[in-house]
Order: sequence, then structure tokens, then C-alpha cells
Amino acid sequence: MSEDISVALHIYTVSDHAAHDPGPSFVERPARVESVMDALGEAAIDIEIHEATGASLAHLEAVHDAAHLQWLEGLDRSGGALIGLDTVVSEGSFDVATRAAGAVSVAAERAMSNRERSFCVVRPPGHHATRDKAMGFCLINNVAVAAYAARDAGAQRVAVVDFDVHHGNGTQEIFYSDPSVLYLSVHQYPWYPGPSGVLELTGAGPGEGANINLPLPGGCQDGVYRECFERIVMPCVREFTPDIILVSAGFDAHSKDPLSSMEVSAEGFSAMTEGIVSVAEEVCEGRVVLCLEGGYHLASLAESAVGSARALLGEQAASSVPGPVGRQRRVVDDLVAFHSRTWKVA
Ligand SMILES: [Zn+2]
Repeated sequence: MSEDISVALHIYTVSDHAAHDPGPSFVERPARVESVMDALGEAAIDIEIHEATGASLAHLEAVHDAAHLQWLEGLDRSGGALIGLDTVVSEGSFDVATRAAGAVSVAAERAMSNRERSFCVVRPPGHHATRDKAMGFCLINNVAVAAYAARDAGAQRVAVVDFDVHHGNGTQEIFYSDPSVLYLSVHQYPWYPGPSGVLELTGAGPGEGANINLPLPGGCQDGVYRECFERIVMPCVREFTPDIILVSAGFDAHSKDPLSSMEVSAEGFSAMTEGIVSVAEEVCEGRVVLCLEGGYHLASLAESAVGSARALLGEQAASSVPGPVGRQRRVVDDLVAFHSRTWKVA
């Protein structure tokens, strides 16, 4: 790491995130952020903690319909509501959600101006939130709002890498026709949220090609993810040459997570983050912002998040990740074959 890069990892969070309170029966709960913050505090990592401010209204409205934002705020002010089966607005949620988006936005702006490397430990997550819909625990699309903030701070091209086990249908929808934002998602398929994660959805109009889905069957281990990153994610980001990489860092592909049937380990997440950092150093002067998305087994979430924090600081992963074998290798071969029509992957 060169001398003029700040060596501390900047942690952005919303200290009163517990005001967004889905209730005791929901896995997306305040203890998630508390477990990560506690683990970061106990780990021997040089961190600086920053309290988030609100996102700018212009950036929020670049992503979401004004009516969606007003609806969310109205639900909050009237005491809260359950949206669908899984998404809650409680009293206090709107402020927490907009400040979560503000955290990622400020981190992106600081990455652009000072090359600060940040991890935004925020909730609620964001990648399922579409222009006009809250779903999948997500109210506001944090990473999408930050992409607009990054652009206002000088980024002409933004790459969003999403390794949450669920497909980020919201992020895909928001940037589907936008050639300046490359969205790459590796996710379990078929799985929540459904058909948005298929291989064939590659973008539209001027954004054709700038949407890369890597659907994987359940049961994939670290090696498949490593292979996807080495053969597809990293080469595509390199070819796209973004000015900043935003990461939808969900840790719910962990083998112990209750919301998936993947078998990724904490070392697997560290290896993915290392890959992102190395390509960022090649193409965008190391500008990377990690944003917490999912991850619902508290101990695994904390361990994985600390591993990725170390990888962000350039520390080596704890152990090397073996490559995939047999059927799992053929899964990656098929993904490479499809995307090689548009991208220089092999
Ligand atoms: Zn998820």
C-alpha cells in the first residue's frame, strides 16, 4: 500500500440503528450490526468509526421515486407497518434507513476524494429495494444511492460487486439501462427473490452487457466462488475500468446461515474481498467501499465481516481456498462460456 493512503479502515455506522426494529421474530435484527461492531472492536484491526449522516435528497430521489420515499416516511410516522411477509417499517426506520444510505454515500465520496477504504456496517440492507418497492428486508437501496454520490464526486464509471447469497434485484433494476454502472452478482439460484437473477438478464439499451448475473446452485463451496471471481468478476471489472468499486457484502452464503444452502466459509469471503481489493488497486487506485447487506448467523457473520475487514486493509486471508472439482467446476465453465460472448473471460 502506498504511503499516501490512510492505513486505517474507516467504519461507517448508524449508532441508533436499533430504532429500525422489525420485532423478535425477524432474522434481520439489531444484534447483527452489534455482533459485527463488537467483533471489529475486539479484533486487532486499526479502525476509525464514523457516525453516518443522512443521504442527500437528490441522491435518494435519483434512485427512488419521491412517492416511495414519502410512503416509507408516512408509514414510519404513523407507527409502522409490515410490507409483504418479510419487510418491516417501524417507528424510526425511515431515519435509520436514510442514514444507512448516507453512510455508504459519504464512504464513497471519501474514497473518491481521499482513497479512504471503508466498510459500512449498516442495516437495514438495501440491494432488494427497487425504485418504488421495499422488499426482502430492504427499504432504501444503500449501494445505489452511494453510486450516485460517487458520480457526483467525480466517478464516471462505478462497479457494484454483490456477493450476498440473494440476487440484488433492486440494484439490477435501478441500473439496468445505465452503461456507467456495471452490476455483477454471484448468488444462489433458484432462490429468493426469484427470476431476476437469471443469466440471460444482461442489461438493456445503452446498458446492454453491463449487468452480469452469476447464478449458482445450492451447495457451492469457497472454490466455486473463488473461480467465479478469478475467471469472471475480476476480469470483467478490469475490462470495465471503474473509478470505484462498491461491494454489496452479504455474508449469508456462509455454511451456517439460515437463509441459504451455500457452503462458503469466512476464509471464502476474505478471498473474495481480497480479489476485489487487488483489482481495485489495478484499475481505480484502490477505491473500494464495502456495504453490509445480509448475514443472519451472528457468529459467522461477525467472523466473516472481520475477515473481509482484514482483506480490505491488505492483510492476507487466513488460509488458501482450494479450487472447485467435478460438477462445481462445470458450473463455472458454463458461466464463463455465456459471458465470454460479451466480455474477455476464459
Ligand atoms: Zn441476502
